[in-house]
Amino acid sequence: MHKHIIIVGGGTAGWSTAAILSTNTDITITILDPSNIPIIGVGESTLPHLHLAHRAMKLPILQTNEWANSVDATIKLGIGFENFYTKNSRWLHPFLDAADIDRITLAKAIRYGYYKNIDNQWDFASKYTWAGSRLKNGFIERTDWFTNYKTAANGGGGAFHINAVKYSALLKTTVKDRPNVRLIDSVVSNIKQNDLGEIESIVLDNGQQVTADLYIDCTGFASILSNAVESPWTSVSDRLFVDQALVVQLPYIKEQLQKTNLTTCTGLSSGWVFNIPLDTRIGTGYIHASRYIDSDNAKLEFKDYLTNRWGYNLEDIDLRLIKFRTGFRPNLWHKNVVSIGLSGFFCEPIESTAIAIANYAVMLLNEYMQAKNIPLQTFKDKFNLEMKEQHNDILDFVTAHYQLTARDDSAFWKDYKNLPLPNNITNLMNEFVNQHRESTLDDNKFHSLIGRKVGMFHLWSYTALFLGNKIIPQNCKA
Ligand SMILES: Cc1cc2nc3c(=O)[nH]c(=O)nc-3n(C[C@H](O)[C@H](O)[C@H](O)COP(=O)(O)OP(=O)(O)OC[C@H]3O[C@@H](n4cnc5c(N)ncnc54)[C@H](O)[C@@H]3O)c2cc1C
Repeated sequence: MHKHIIIVGGGTAGWSTAAILSTNTDITITILDPSNIPIIGVGESTLPHLHLAHRAMKLPILQTNEWANSVDATIKLGIGFENFYTKNSRWLHPFLDAADIDRITLAKAIRYGYYKNIDNQWDFASKYTWAGSRLKNGFIERTDWFTNYKTAANGGGGAFHINAVKYSALLKTTVKDRPNVRLIDSVVSNIKQNDLGEIESIVLDNGQQVTADLYIDCTGFASILSNAVESPWTSVSDRLFVDQALVVQLPYIKEQLQKTNLTTCTGLSSGWVFNIPLDTRIGTGYIHASRYIDSDNAKLEFKDYLTNRWGYNLEDIDLRLIKFRTGFRPNLWHKNVVSIGLSGFFCEPIESTAIAIANYAVMLLNEYMQAKNIPLQTFKDKFNLEMKEQHNDILDFVTAHYQLTARDDSAFWKDYKNLPLPNNITNLMNEFVNQHRESTLDDNKFHSLIGRKVGMFHLWSYTALFLGNKIIPQNCKA
């Protein structure tokens, strides 16, 4: 149906899209990746969904540990949240094992009220999940992971921290040599459209004109194709207050403490700091809301944190400011443009969803493209509907990380505390507290309460979130 596809943009989204779609040899792909416009270069924390994308890419290098070595990867077993519920509190969102043993163990522990013997979500997750218990035993090195944890390493649980720049370069090196992929190192200088507003052709700065059956916008926040076809954008800044990041890469100075198999998120006055340990350095940044703190004060607060927490010398720290907007395109596929990556959705980095959801969209697109005898409009509608559900799922879960806070020590946290939860989350929470035996442990009931069939976050993600914010089932109360 779509014989020739043009992908504009060569960041993680662009090259992941090319890697997945080029497995279909009925399609030819042209990717425009201008070497003079840099990629965003953050996005270092991934989810276990990365394994699915790697399988879909069918690149030999991704089937061994060679890829992980070349992107300085460390193993990630979950996400830790510090100072979100209250200052000096923490909770753990562990990845569950793929064999479903964790689910069964957790269901039993909740059903029989074992939580009341612990009354602390971190310790509970450490006792009743594989990832949680493994974290207590110290850092798992990459070689150890691929040698001694083969099931998990081959997609049975766990994810990675990666050097995002090296990762997209790795994909580029391997995908550009596929026979149905053509790489053009050029910037888009003009977009020609027909009477319906669809893209007719793209003019490059070298004078060349290229045309395709379908266009994929992977130009990140620039979103040049999506904007050209006026693909609507729904802002969620009323729910997600953060809109800037101060980021930096630092050497380890207390490696034993800093290098963990966790992405750590630490609440500050007007947002939170991410800490992503790679092989040889840390990626860190202060995600904050400019309506609560200006960049100068955010810099001071972040530097204070880095000095007080870890002992970094302020002189060594050169921060890069990234401004972003949170929201999504209600129709990810609009006219003849599909917006993948930051051009289509961004809800801030808190649960590391951006790379995962971009890959999900491409895998879905790939599936539809291989189906025969289904009208294009039916594809488009189904694709858009499913992606809208996925986006709303992420937004609900991420926003609840703030809304369930008990903090009132700054305007940022106070306003979140007063921001009402959506009905579906309230219903789920009430059910969790009151009806845990009969229903909350049931996936079908969960989907009916949350109001959607698909979503990245399952019942056990909500269980971690609720317990971490002191929302406790009746039978688990001490
Ligand atoms: C602070 C921050 C932290 C993040 N942390 C995480 C995380 O931990 N985990 C996660 O999954 N995600 C994270 N993300 C999101 C992640 O960075 C992106 O989803 C991911 O890098 C994909 O970006 P992209 O490819 O869409 O855009 P980009 O990397 O910006 O790539 C855009 C591409 O478009 C090209 N381009 C731009 N203009 C033109 C033009 N005129 N003509 C031709 N080409 C053009 C550029 O050359 C570039 O190749 C984070 C984002 C931010 C802002």
